[in-house]
Amino acid sequence: MGDSNSIVFFGGAGVSTESGIPDFRSADGIYNMEYSYPPETILSHSFFMEHTSVFYRFYREKLLHPSAQPNKAHYALAELERRGKLDAIVTQNVDGLHHKAGSVNVLELHGSRNRYYCMKCGMKYTMDVVFATDDVPKCDCGGMIRPDVVLFEEMLDQNVIERSVRAIRKAQVLIVGGTSLNVYPAAGLIQHYNGDMLILINKTETPYDKYANIIIRDPIGETLDAAIS
Ligand code: ZN
Repeated sequence: MGDSNSIVFFGGAGVSTESGIPDFRSADGIYNMEYSYPPETILSHSFFMEHTSVFYRFYREKLLHPSAQPNKAHYALAELERRGKLDAIVTQNVDGLHHKAGSVNVLELHGSRNRYYCMKCGMKYTMDVVFATDDVPKCDCGGMIRPDVVLFEEMLDQNVIERSVRAIRKAQVLIVGGTSLNVYPAAGLIQHYNGDMLILINKTETPYDKYANIIIRDPIGETLDAAIS
């Protein structure tokens, strides 16, 4: 893939597990951990509105991972973009690690834990606001501050979806990594790919294995690192 141009990378939770961020849906992921409500419930819009304090407690403990650093996969993708070979990264992750590794054109389907805004006046905040209090962060205007991430029951940003579809349509090479492609809208987006070099990097089988030109089961960090050297 080092000789290819117009690569688009589509990634999921598996890209960040090597950074110490557990995969939401894997057997040992946070979905199986003890909490008084299931994570799908806590991370829903209605739960956020009704039990904002509990939401933020869970969010701080299980989701933020403020000290997580990019791994080899993030750095390799940033390097491919610098070399003019990679056009875009479409990610399901909210950890912001692609930006931190130096990538520029990153389409974050589910938003980012690094961005926050006041629900009343729209004022923007950074992650620091979450640690400025032990409870629900509040704006100077009195409004509640929420993370700019897509919660369960909420719609994805249509603009981000459209840009993702355009990038995937134009791609010569599509690398899909660290996702089982079972989660909406991943599978639907992949269907827009028209090229003839679909590379799947995932530890387990995916419903798209039969369409892949290359399937790689090795760890994604090592795999992408080898591709740039
Ligand atoms: Zn405000």
